[in-house]
Amino acid sequence: KELPADPILENSRRQVLKACFSYVEPKKTAKPELLHVSDEMLTNLGLSEADSHSEHFLNVFTGNTVLENTKPYAMCYGGHQFGNWAGQLGDGRAINLFEIEHDNKSWVLQLKGAGETPYSRSGDGLAVLRSSVREYLCSEAMYHLGVPTTRALSIAITGDNVLRDMLYDGNSAYEKGAVVSRISPSFLRFGSYEIFSSRQDVESLKTLVDYTIKHHFSRLGAPSKETYIQFFAEVSQRTLEMIIHWQRVGFVHGVMNTDNMSILGLTIDYGPYGWLEDFSYGWTPNTTDIQHKRYRYGNQPNMGLWNLYQLANALYPLIEDAEPLETVLNQYKTDFDVESLKMMRSKLGLENEDELDKLLIQDLEDNLQLSETDMTIFFRNLSRFNKENPSEGLKIVADAFYVPTEISDKIRQEWNEWFQRYAKRLQNETLSDADRRIQMNTINPKYVLRNYMSQLAIDDADKGDYRLIDELYQLLKQPYTEQPKYEKWFAKRPDWAKHKAGCSMLSCSS
Ligand code: AMP
Ligand code: MG
Ligand code: MG
Repeated sequence: KELPADPILENSRRQVLKACFSYVEPKKTAKPELLHVSDEMLTNLGLSEADSHSEHFLNVFTGNTVLENTKPYAMCYGGHQFGNWAGQLGDGRAINLFEIEHDNKSWVLQLKGAGETPYSRSGDGLAVLRSSVREYLCSEAMYHLGVPTTRALSIAITGDNVLRDMLYDGNSAYEKGAVVSRISPSFLRFGSYEIFSSRQDVESLKTLVDYTIKHHFSRLGAPSKETYIQFFAEVSQRTLEMIIHWQRVGFVHGVMNTDNMSILGLTIDYGPYGWLEDFSYGWTPNTTDIQHKRYRYGNQPNMGLWNLYQLANALYPLIEDAEPLETVLNQYKTDFDVESLKMMRSKLGLENEDELDKLLIQDLEDNLQLSETDMTIFFRNLSRFNKENPSEGLKIVADAFYVPTEISDKIRQEWNEWFQRYAKRLQNETLSDADRRIQMNTINPKYVLRNYMSQLAIDDADKGDYRLIDELYQLLKQPYTEQPKYEKWFAKRPDWAKHKAGCSMLSCSS
């Protein structure tokens, strides 16, 4: 009730002015079937497993039943896509159902793929099985890796077929429709604020910013210019923190447009994301971005900053002073250097600070790019390094190399030199090798959702077998823990997956 709503009560596509959201009706589905439910999210919401088996649960979380006294809505937002202002975007296929308060936490429950809204533009408002499995598994996996993220409660197929362009051959085909129920304290994005500034609607902008502070940044206090600056500073810090986590685990978002940047600093919109297998700053999973590679791994921190500039512009009318905003943006740059160094130190098990650490880390990153080297396996195995025996370093990380024959004498020498320096550096540390190992294994995951793993689960699910979804869900609940029965998932990407659609590159269309 606090936010301006669209007065038109129908789902037709249009420009929606002076409103933060539009009331909509989820689409009824032909033959909904739940594929998986997150037991953890059930608990977080105060629901039991028995609840999740009911017909009612199925119908609510596929959009077939709207709970009494609730009014589903789609949100209005704009965004900069790949560097260009794109105007009104909005929830084209997401519908917020209601909020739940439980254990002093407040959650918005949202369906993704529940049909058209005023914001659907040329899209159909639907989602397909493959993208839904990817979103469902990855958001939960990210949470357990300790990365700030939106969550997911359930995934269902709808029983409807959905037409999609295929990735490589340019033809269209029908795929199984699916709906994921996504969960977050809020789905507001940078673009939610940009849309009002772009329309010079300062009144709605102020209403939304005040609402956001009241509900999500309440310790900042009553609205004032000072509060707005602090709000921006906090969003900036959270954004940086999230991206540093992405860099730590090798997650590449793929579409860091401002409409995909959560105001709470949560990873949102699992589309053409990917996981670094061979460590490479230049890698992006998104086929739409293959030319400029704007959202490549090594550029994510810069893109976070670029997006914060757009948010600063959007908030400017409420502050009318550029200087404090610039101070925050400059702080991001300084903090980035500090925080990324801290993060890399932790990946190497270094607790003290040494002025040569920066160089040691840069040279490590260069070495990792000398030949195809699996990031996850490298850092995990590095925890077994013995500082008294640096010449064994290469052997310890050998499993991480994709093409062992590529390791020339020259590369071998580079690595041996690096291991010598690392061993020497470790002499300044107080932790024993054994304790350092334990410490490093809480920072460097053993299991991540490699692109081919999702694809295997998708291929099975498409044939009606959902066991692999559950196996990966269970595995990724404990990404830092040795899980002998799942050892097969601690492995390099298999050869067959290197060029298979869905296993390396992905498009936005899903
Ligand atoms: P994304 O690249 O996933 O962030 O999407 C950008 C915009 O396109 C957002 O406004 C989405 O809601 C919208 N969109 C994406 N897919 C669809 C779809 N299948 N139907 C309608 N809108 C969509
Ligand atoms: Mg999006
Ligand atoms: Mg998307």
